[in-house]
Amino acid sequence: MSAEGSEPTRKHKNWGNRPWTVKFRAKPQALPETVDFAVVGGGFTGLAAAAWIKRAAPEKSVALLEAETFGSGASGHTGGMALAESAAGKLPGLGDVLSGYQRILHELRVDGDVHLPGVYELGRTMPLKNSPIHWSDSGDLRAVNEVAGGTIDPGKVVTGLAVAAERAGVLLFEQASIARCAFLDPIRLYTSLGIFQARQVIFATNAYSLELTRWNRRVETCFTIAVATEPFPKSIIEEIGLANRKPFYTVDLPYLWGRLLGEQVIFGSGLVHFTDWSKIDSLDVETGAAAEVFVRLENRIRNLHPKVRGVNFTHRWGGPIAISDGWVPIFERHPESTNAIVLGGYSGHGVAQSVYLGAWAAEALLGKRELPAWKQPDREK
Ligand SMILES: Cc1cc2nc3c(=O)[nH]c(=O)nc-3n(C[C@H](O)[C@H](O)[C@H](O)COP(=O)(O)OP(=O)(O)OC[C@H]3O[C@@H](n4cnc5c(N)ncnc54)[C@H](O)[C@@H]3O)c2cc1C
Repeated sequence: MSAEGSEPTRKHKNWGNRPWTVKFRAKPQALPETVDFAVVGGGFTGLAAAAWIKRAAPEKSVALLEAETFGSGASGHTGGMALAESAAGKLPGLGDVLSGYQRILHELRVDGDVHLPGVYELGRTMPLKNSPIHWSDSGDLRAVNEVAGGTIDPGKVVTGLAVAAERAGVLLFEQASIARCAFLDPIRLYTSLGIFQARQVIFATNAYSLELTRWNRRVETCFTIAVATEPFPKSIIEEIGLANRKPFYTVDLPYLWGRLLGEQVIFGSGLVHFTDWSKIDSLDVETGAAAEVFVRLENRIRNLHPKVRGVNFTHRWGGPIAISDGWVPIFERHPESTNAIVLGGYSGHGVAQSVYLGAWAAEALLGKRELPAWKQPDREK
């Protein structure tokens, strides 16, 4: 192992407090010189991909490298609504994301508190006759449609995937940031722990490290936020129309999504834009543009329904979101090496897709499956 290529690990960031926890830490160990497969990024995508490769090919060596701790990106800071399809709708060959998600979690023995009672689409026109939701938010907000989906516990899913990866024999590294790669054969990775090589690599770095994935002009890195209310009595949950525990998101603007977590309600909306992805770690939820989006969101929530007028919030947090062109996820070979796959850019629709496509990426590297040919809309080169 060499110290060349070292870079300082990221400094402590203030992205608020989340209502779930990741209960897994990787044990320190030496970086190997060469592995068959390296996975970069320890969110849902990378953890699922690494666990799935090792499970399918136990004789191969697999290393997973995470710049901070598992779940420190979007996956640990998400809202946890499991949605079908992609943010761009049905994509050719995508298949049934929710069934696949459940099957993969089951096979990896991950208990993620998955509940799929359906999801309400909300809108300001054409309400469903029996909409249980009657809120006021730039018009009369009602359920306009119901689609497949539900909720998960993100802390449990990150933890469960990390345990599954460790159980399968994946070499797990936290505080191991990849600074750069030389796309040779094998691929050489320059990390904060030293240099090593991998025959094949999956980049699952989402809204970060756009130089590694070459996504600088394909993905916009934003910070998006969520809040959790204090617990409500059952009677109020019924009065505000959430007794059937179906999460919701608006299909018109202004955007709002939410879900129940026990007796608390989580709501989310609002973006802080970044022209340079690397600035996202210095965002502080208590100051500047981020603090303003929290105030706006909390005011909107307090005006949704008379029963929530004086509500207090117990948790405020946010995380990175990778908004891709046309909201189409990016899932393809790396432009500089056919031995590497880049996967991510789910645009706020990644909870189920990340795991589902992570397992698909694993199968593609093992030569068991082709990659899809999803096209982003025309874009400038
Ligand atoms: C507030 C919020 C609410 C959301 N709500 C929902 C929702 O309800 N439903 C839904 O479907 N989606 C939602 N999303 C989106 C969803 O959470 C993401 O699409 C999903 O978590 C992406 O997972 P990932 O593993 O691809 O990325 P991430 O979880 O971001 O993981 C990428 C990891 O790569 C690591 N990394 C980056 N660069 C390097 C490097 N150079 N070396 C090593 N490691 C590196 C990062 O530290 C990070 O841990 C939400 C997102 C946010 C922020």
